[in-house]
Formats: sequence, C-alpha cells, structure tokens
Amino acid sequence: MLRLVRIASNASIVILSVPASLAEGTFSNPGTYSATAMGRNGEVTVTSTFSESAITGIEVAHEETPTIGDAAIEQLTSSVLSNQSLAVDAVSGATLSSGAFIEALEDCVEQAGGDVDALKAVPVQGEETKVVYDVTDADIIIVGAGGAGMTAAMKAAQEGASVIVIEKSGVIGGNSLCSQMGINAAGAKVQEGLPYASAELLTKAQMQWGGRENLVAAYVENSGKTIDWFSETYGVEFKGPDGERVDPSDPFASVGEDHPSGGDLFMMRADAAGYTANTLISVMSESLDGAGVKLYVNTEATELTCDDSGRVNGVKAKAADGSEVTFTGKAVLLATGGFGQNHDMVVSYRPDLQYAITDETAPTTGDGIVMAQAVGAKTVDMAEMQLFPHVPVGDTWLPPMAMPGGFMTTALFVNQDAQRYTTEGFDPSTEGTLAQEHAFVIFGESDMNDDLKKLEARGLVKSADTAEELAALFGLDGTALAETIEKWNADCENGADSQFERLPFTLKKIEGKLYGYAFGVGAHYMMGGVLINEKTQVLNQDEQVIPGLYAAGEVTGGFHGTKRVDGSGTGDAFVFGYVAGNALASEVLGE
Ligand SMILES: Cc1cc2nc3c(=O)[nH]c(=O)nc-3n(C[C@H](O)[C@H](O)[C@H](O)COP(=O)(O)OP(=O)(O)OC[C@H]3O[C@@H](n4cnc5c(N)ncnc54)[C@H](O)[C@@H]3O)c2cc1C
Repeated sequence: MLRLVRIASNASIVILSVPASLAEGTFSNPGTYSATAMGRNGEVTVTSTFSESAITGIEVAHEETPTIGDAAIEQLTSSVLSNQSLAVDAVSGATLSSGAFIEALEDCVEQAGGDVDALKAVPVQGEETKVVYDVTDADIIIVGAGGAGMTAAMKAAQEGASVIVIEKSGVIGGNSLCSQMGINAAGAKVQEGLPYASAELLTKAQMQWGGRENLVAAYVENSGKTIDWFSETYGVEFKGPDGERVDPSDPFASVGEDHPSGGDLFMMRADAAGYTANTLISVMSESLDGAGVKLYVNTEATELTCDDSGRVNGVKAKAADGSEVTFTGKAVLLATGGFGQNHDMVVSYRPDLQYAITDETAPTTGDGIVMAQAVGAKTVDMAEMQLFPHVPVGDTWLPPMAMPGGFMTTALFVNQDAQRYTTEGFDPSTEGTLAQEHAFVIFGESDMNDDLKKLEARGLVKSADTAEELAALFGLDGTALAETIEKWNADCENGADSQFERLPFTLKKIEGKLYGYAFGVGAHYMMGGVLINEKTQVLNQDEQVIPGLYAAGEVTGGFHGTKRVDGSGTGDAFVFGYVAGNALASEVLGE
C-alpha cells in the first residue's frame, strides 16, 4: 500500500509504503510518556503516546531555532509515525535538534515498555522511497535557501516571476540564522532623522577595506529599500541605530582608528526583534505557499546547465534518494553562502589556516563558487577570510560574551603541553591558537554560565575535581596542567600576569570544580567569491556578464574588500538578495 507523506511544508514529496503494524504487545505499558534531551540551543521535550502495537502520536516542545527545529522535527515525526520505526537519520543542517529528538523519543519508547533496538531494526522502506519533484521548470531557479536566496525568491515572486528554490540541507535559513546583528542600512523610513544612518557614512564604512565602488553604491542605495520592503510586505518592525558605540580598538568590529568616522562610528543597523535574520527568514518561510514559491529541501545543486549560446538555463541537482533531477529556467541565482565547511577549499586559498575549524552551521561548502567557475566566472578576494577566534571543538557557535568570564576571559588557554601560550581573550589569542591543532580553555567553578552548561550537557565541556583528573579527560599531562594552574593562581595573588599581558581585572584564580573544553579558530566569513555587478549578474574573467547567471550573498566577492564591517554580512545576504530578486524578475519578465 502506498500513500503520500509530506516531509516538510512545501518540500519534496516522498512516497513511502506504510509498514505492517507492529505486533500486539510491542509496548507493554501503553500510555503517554515524556522525556527531554539537550539540543543545539536548549531542551527538546518529546511527549509520545503508545497503544500496544503502535506509536500513535508525537508532540514536541523545543527551544531550538524555530525555522530549523520545527522543520527537522516535522520530518522526523513524519518518518517515525509512517514507518513505526526508530531507524531515522538526523536531518541535515539540524543534526543536534534531530539527535535530541531521537534520544528523547527512545526514552519514551523505553518508558512504554518498547524495545528500542528492535524498533531501530524495523525497515523504513528505504528502497521504496522515491523523491518526486512535481515542478522542475520556472522563470527563475534559486540555489540555496539562506537569507539571500529566500529574499530574492520572495521579491522576484512578488514581481510576478515563477520561482523554484532548491536547498541542499533539510532545513532553510543557512548561516543567516546564526547572525545576531541587524542590517547596516541608510535611508530606511525607520532611520529618518537619525544622524548616523546616512548614505555617506555607510559608503565610507563599506569602502574602507577596498570594496568595489559599484557594489557598495548598489548596497547603499538598496539597503533602506530592503528594510522598507520587509516592513511593508511582512509587517516586520525595525528600529534604527541603537547608538551603540563601536570600540575602534576592537579588530573584530573592523573599525580601525583611521576609520572615516574617527573611531566614533555608531552602528547604522536596522534591527528587527530577536535576531534580525532569523525574524526575516521566519516571516518569509511562512509566506512561501502564498507567494507561489516552490521550495525543495534535501536537494543539492551539482552543476549549471547552459544552452547552445552559452546562456545559463538550469541546474542539475541530486535528490535525497540519490537520483538526479534537472531544473530549467530563464535564469539561475546562486545563493549558496560561504565555504567555511569545506576545509580543503579554505586551505587551498589560505595554507596558514590548516588548523582552522569553522563556526558555519549550514553545509556551506563553496558549491556555488565551483559551479560558477565551471561556466567561466571570475572570483575575487578568495584569500580574504574573517576568522572567529574562539569556536569550541564539536560546536559551531558560542557568542564571545559566553566565554568563561566574558569577552576578556578570566579562563586560561593552554596548548597540548598544558602550557599557556597567549594572552587569553577573544581576539589576542588567534595567532597562537591557529598554530596548533586545537587548544583548551580551562576555568573554575564560578565562571560556569548558562551557555557553557549547554555545552556541558552535550559533553563538550568536561569537569573534574582536580587538575590531574581534568587533564586526563583531554589527554593532557596532569602534572603540567596542575603546575600551570598553580602558577596562574600565584600570579593572581601577586596581582600581575608573569607570562603574558592579562589585564588586572581578568586576574582571577582558577578554583573550585575545574572545567575545560577544546577550541580552535573558526573560518567564519568569506569576503571573497564570485564577482558580480551591481545587478548581481555574475561576471566572467573579462568582467562581462555571463548571461542567465546571478549570485547574491556570501557566495559573492568584491563588496567587502579585505574585511567585513559588522552587520554587512547579514546585509550582504538580504540587501543583495533584494537586488537580485528585482533584477531577475526584470530580466525574466522582459521588463
Ligand atoms: C556563527 C555565525 C555568526 C554570524 N554573525 C553575524 C553577525 O553578527 N553579523 C553579520 O553581519 N554577519 C554574521 N554572520 C554572517 C552571515 O550570517 C552570513 O554570512 C550570511 O547570512 C550569509 O547569507 P547567505 O544567504 O549568503 O548564505 P547562507 O545563509 O549560509 O545560505 C546558504 C544556503 O545555501 C545552501 N547550499 C549550499 N550549497 C548548496 C547546494 N549545492 N545546493 C543547494 N543548496 C546549497 C546552504 O545549505 C544554505 O542553506 C555570521 C555567520 C556565522 C556562521
């Protein structure tokens, strides 16, 4: 017997055969049970109901990013209920949320008297699963459902174009969901009368690291329009610059003392409630059906197709079941994000980053760049990468302020010899950390915070009563670590760091229960990528337009130059997504 199961809203339709029901007595304690496990951001609680021979219902409460958590849990729940099997794979792009769901559900199964191993052996009808794409032709094919791809899709659809979006992972949002910033903008209605939100200052800020003039001009001109469009189309409320002063000595803020504002740059950000990018992705995802945008998740673009004249007219892609599908259109937009998840590619442009890890959460592996290069696209600034100095190994994203003791940490950073190697802190440690496979953060009981507790629940932060025991958990020399801590505690008593340049207020003894975790430097943001013009059309080696091919967001290069101004990563995605949506619609609708 066959039936259709919707795997995610508006996603690929998967045909699954419904399995024979489980044997009577599979669950010896029928009833409703709850269990909780730790996901990416917090707890995932599963409440499941069982009859004697079936899992009859699953409800989930979670603290995960809604766009990711909801989509993953919907897919997993659908699979478990359809197959009556626990043999489910994590949803790509949402591994931690998926893992927590599965762990909690298995707990419920045990409470109901079921045998987890036996239920894992129930086949999920994998061989009979077939992905069906009901529409493969549209005016515009968009690759990547992050900030840039989603914005372009919704804008182009609003202008009247038909749009298909394909997304490699099982969820939408990409790395855009990680951004905590608003969008650097000028001229938005919400910014009227605010002195720092001027086109002139935004232009200067963007140009300071060698961004291309035409791209910066396009960004500045469209930034306010993008904010207004989100307000008017989706009712998103933005607030203007919040008056936050950027510290010119903070290199991560990319604002040097020679900054045109004299180091007195106030952020020109327009912020929406919560995390701006998250809010914008959410409102767009809720409007996909109404806008007539077709979204296929778990669909990985592999190659661009061209007609006889060389015009890009489609994309070949791989479906979740391994089958191939070709999408055809009048134009294609690459919105595949950066390439931090592709270590080989990172190192090919930056051999000095051999030990870098990444904090990019989405499977952003530079596919768009490779596909564009194959049709002759020019790339620029490929070696320009922004680094995130502190990424726990096994995790992707810990806000700098969540380091033990905060941004100017009170912890110790030690190398594989259990020796301090740097002035600890978010930024000064980068060079020393990059010189080794990974280093370790060691801290005392009073520096434990909520973010670190979440890492502890996932087994990344480990604890012990003595330095020797803690060292053993990380394969370090116990005596050496004990001596390092002892020496540090003596420095604290003496009021001076005898080895490096720690500021007095960070001199805090490491005592009580001891904690630690491994960390590395993350390849965080790629300034380089495919060169585009001000309409987001991709250019060839002679900087001429490649007909039919567009790109927007982190996959592109040329806008930032050698550094990224805070708030212009999110801006790059959403503003150039908006520009692309307009430009694509004009081209395919012949306007
Ligand atoms: C941890 C973190 C924090 C950040 N914080 C900030 C911040 O505070 N301020 C700021 O300005 N910027 C920040 N950024 C940068 C910013 O969030 C991103 O650069 C930006 O949102 C990228 O948007 P995008 O649409 O270009 O790509 P993404 O949002 O990454 O979307 C790309 C999408 O393409 C998909 N894809 C990739 N390859 C394929 C393929 N072959 N086929 C189909 N789909 C594919 C991916 O799965 C992904 O969903 C941060 C980034 C990270 C990682």
